[in-house]
Amino acid sequence: MAVMDVHTNIPLKNYLTMKLGGSARFMTTVTSSDELAAACKNATAQGIRFFILGGGSNVIARDEGFDGIVIRNRILGFEIIADDSASTTVKLGAGENWDEMVAKLTGMGLTGVEAMSAIPGTVGAAPVQNVGAYGQEIADTLVSLEAYDSVSDKLVTLQNADCGFAYRHSIFRGDQAGRYGITSITIRLYKSSPQPPFYEALQKYLDENGITLYTPTAIRDAVTAIRKDKLPDPKLLPNTGSFFKNAIIEKWQLDELHKTWPDMPSFDLGEKQAKIPTGWLIEQAGLKGQVLHGMKIHDKNALVLINESASSYSDLAAARSEIIAKVRDTFRIQIEQEPLEI
Ligand SMILES: Cc1cc2nc3c(=O)[nH]c(=O)nc-3n(C[C@H](O)[C@H](O)[C@H](O)COP(=O)(O)OP(=O)(O)OC[C@H]3O[C@@H](n4cnc5c(N)ncnc54)[C@H](O)[C@@H]3O)c2cc1C
Repeated sequence: MAVMDVHTNIPLKNYLTMKLGGSARFMTTVTSSDELAAACKNATAQGIRFFILGGGSNVIARDEGFDGIVIRNRILGFEIIADDSASTTVKLGAGENWDEMVAKLTGMGLTGVEAMSAIPGTVGAAPVQNVGAYGQEIADTLVSLEAYDSVSDKLVTLQNADCGFAYRHSIFRGDQAGRYGITSITIRLYKSSPQPPFYEALQKYLDENGITLYTPTAIRDAVTAIRKDKLPDPKLLPNTGSFFKNAIIEKWQLDELHKTWPDMPSFDLGEKQAKIPTGWLIEQAGLKGQVLHGMKIHDKNALVLINESASSYSDLAAARSEIIAKVRDTFRIQIEQEPLEI
C-alpha cells in the first residue's frame, strides 16, 4: 500500500460546491478500499474523527471547520459481475463520478439509473441520501454495497435491506452516520426500455420534443436538458442542489391546508402521508428570487439556495432560519435541510 499524503489545515470551501466554511485539520485522498480502511483506522487509533468526502455537492461546512481528517474517496472501478437475458449487474468503485457511470450504463442500453442523470458527485455518496430524481432512486437498483465498518474494523457487505433506505435517507446519514466508508456499490439494471408513466415534467419535455422512442439514452438526454435549464451549475454558481427536502405531512394535515391553499400540489405516499414540493411552499411564502444574507433563493427553482455573496456559514445559517420560519409561519410545516454538515 502506498504511503498516504496527509495535508494540514485545508480550506474546505475549495472542496465543497457551496464554497463556504472553515478548514479541515487534516485531509488525505484514498484510491483503494485498503487505503480507506487504513486511513479510518489510523484516525480512530489517534482519537481523531474522520469524514469521508466525495464530490462535496451535498455537504456544507461550519465556519469553525472540521477538527479531524477528511478522507477524499477516489476509489475507481467498473466490473460486470452478472449478465443474463433480462439484466446486467455491475459493481462500481465508490469514487467514480456518478454521472459518468450513468452515461456509460445508459449507453449500454441498460435501464434503471437514466432518470438520475446529471446529479453531481460520486457513486459512493449515492446510497447515503438514497439519491433520486424524476421517479427513480438508487434504492430501486442497488443490490448491495461494500464498506469499511469502523465499529468492527472490517470490510463488510451490506445488502439493500440493511441500508434502511427511505426518501433521501439511509442508515448512512441516520443512526449509523459516520460508521461506514463505502468502497463500492453493486447495482442491477434491466435490458428493457424505460416505461411510462414518467414524471410530469419529463413527459412534457418528451411530448414537446416529439420523442416517442423511450430508450435509456433518450430519457437521459431529456433529463439532462431539463436539469440544465432548472438547476444552476455549481461550477459557476455555488450551490448544493435542493437545499431542503420535500415536506412529508399527514393526509389530515393536507386536507386542512387544501381549505386555504386549494392549489397546493401533493404526491400520495401510501394511505396516510403525502409529499409536498418544498419549492412550492417557499415560492408561495414569497421568497423565490430573494437574496437573504448573500444567499439567493433560485428564481427558477425555489428549492435551491445559491451562494451569491455569503462570506460564511453563519450567513447561510441566517438565511436558512429565515426561510424555515417563513414557511412554518405560512403553512405550519417544518421543512428540513437536505445537505449534511461537517
Ligand atoms: C446542482 C445539483 C443538483 C443535485 N441534484 C440532486 C438530485 O436530483 N437528487 C439527489 O438526490 N441529489 C442531488 N444533489 C445532491 C448531491 O449531488 C447528491 O447527494 C450526491 O450523491 C452527493 O455526492 P458527493 O460525492 O458530492 O457527496 P458529498 O457531498 O461529498 O457527501 C455527501 C454525504 O455522503 C457521505 N459520503 C460520501 N461518500 C461516501 C462514502 N464513500 N462512504 C460513506 N459516506 C460517504 C459524506 O460523508 C456526506 O455525509 C444535487 C446537487 C447539486 C449541486
